[in-house]
Amino acid sequence: SGQTTSMRLPFRVGHGYDLHQLQPGGKLMLAGICVSEEISPVAHSDGDVVLHAAVDALLGAVAAGDIGEHFPNTDPRWAGATSSVFLQHALKIVQEKGYRVGNADVLIIAERPKLKKHKPTMQRQLAALLEVEIDQVNIKAGTNEGCDAIGRGEAIAADVTVLLIAQ
Ligand code: MG
Repeated sequence: SGQTTSMRLPFRVGHGYDLHQLQPGGKLMLAGICVSEEISPVAHSDGDVVLHAAVDALLGAVAAGDIGEHFPNTDPRWAGATSSVFLQHALKIVQEKGYRVGNADVLIIAERPKLKKHKPTMQRQLAALLEVEIDQVNIKAGTNEGCDAIGRGEAIAADVTVLLIAQ
């Protein structure tokens, strides 16, 4: 009928995307676990693209803005920060608004390193951070078939969709 209502939605969906440039050396963190000690993201925090995209998905689902508004990369408090801190903050906002995570679907796009062997660990770690069971999280990994900056191994990206369920 077009009229506004204060009724809480039973479900809310959110989407997040993040990309970081890669550099030689350091640690590559994805979904809160270290997957390489040969390359690392150029980032103010630990540059975990999965967690950054997940934060944006959570914030987006509850209309709470984006990661840059909550954690400005000019703020010295977040220099070298473990991105799980950002995720915990976003999840707290979600919970305060009366929601829990239904499921999360994650796509990581990277030419290197090979991620297949890390998928179960990433899935377990992200499920723990989101406070859900393992089968409520899916990790997909793909390449960009040699095309663009990701395809040349100069960058890594992640795309996350979450469904929230009213508590
Ligand atoms: Mg980021």
